[in-house]
Amino acid sequence: MTERVTDRDLPALWTHEPHTHLAFRPGDQVSRIDTNSTPGFRGNKSDAPTLQTERNLRLASLQEMLYARSKSGDDNRSVLLILQGMDTAGKGGIVKHVVGAANPQGVRYTSFGKPTEEERAHHYLWRIRNALPPGGHIGVFDRSHYEDVLVVRVHNLVPPDVWGARYDEINAFERELVDGGTTLVKVAMFVSLAEQKARLAERLERPDKYWKYNPADIDERLLWPKYQEAYQVMLEKTSTDYAPWHIVPCDKKWYSRLAITELLIEALKGLNMSWPPPDFDVKTEKKRLAEA
Ligand code: ATP
Repeated sequence: MTERVTDRDLPALWTHEPHTHLAFRPGDQVSRIDTNSTPGFRGNKSDAPTLQTERNLRLASLQEMLYARSKSGDDNRSVLLILQGMDTAGKGGIVKHVVGAANPQGVRYTSFGKPTEEERAHHYLWRIRNALPPGGHIGVFDRSHYEDVLVVRVHNLVPPDVWGARYDEINAFERELVDGGTTLVKVAMFVSLAEQKARLAERLERPDKYWKYNPADIDERLLWPKYQEAYQVMLEKTSTDYAPWHIVPCDKKWYSRLAITELLIEALKGLNMSWPPPDFDVKTEKKRLAEA
């Protein structure tokens, strides 16, 4: 099959490709994000389950094409989804409900917590480089090198001149990734302070959610304004034409999942792929099979 996948196949419930609404633009202010909004989507919550199922299938099929092309040696490109967000923004839900729809064979998932002793002994990008997706894969970073200009900045874990130099360094690193054939999909997920409170409260109400609760989340919550400032600077300094940031409002989980699914689909469509041609003669093989 030589089907090209560049054709517009955006569901009618989206007014425009989501990146056109969600791309960070100079002048955008984190403090003014309407976290409860659903930019570009004209449907509502009741439309979400069916659409999510449909689009997950589309995503899975494109991922399979990417994987197939690398297996056949035609293509060594990859896609890297970078998820950043405050606690409870829903990073885990994206991993489960969006990325979870793809074949695990072609996914490389990594979550980045507090660096281990070994990681601390290396440059902060060391663990990131070790987790990059191989050709043909979708990589998923649940937190990322951006923690090194977020939590590290907010808590002064290293002096300002050290974290201050990282923005340029990260831009150069991402340029290298893009030049090497990796498409970056950078997603900053935002919930409101009130929605975060409700989600944390739920974790304290339900025994099946206790495991998600971390008392330190309250301490971070108290630093919200400092985090907002750190996110603002991060977006301003590291949203580039080759690796732009997207701002996804996350108070409505059904919306953030649909939006990030579309961002991934767009990235894969942008690779302008087709199924790899057979490296055998189909007619001959059919004949051989019939006779076997
Ligand atoms: P999450 O909150 O993402 O669901 P979690 O509460 O289970 O995860 P971990 O995944 O173990 O915790 O670690 C996340 C924590 O690690 C966050 O508080 C994050 O800020 C912190 N962290 C990540 N990267 C760094 C870093 N480079 N330096 C310091 N702290 C970091």
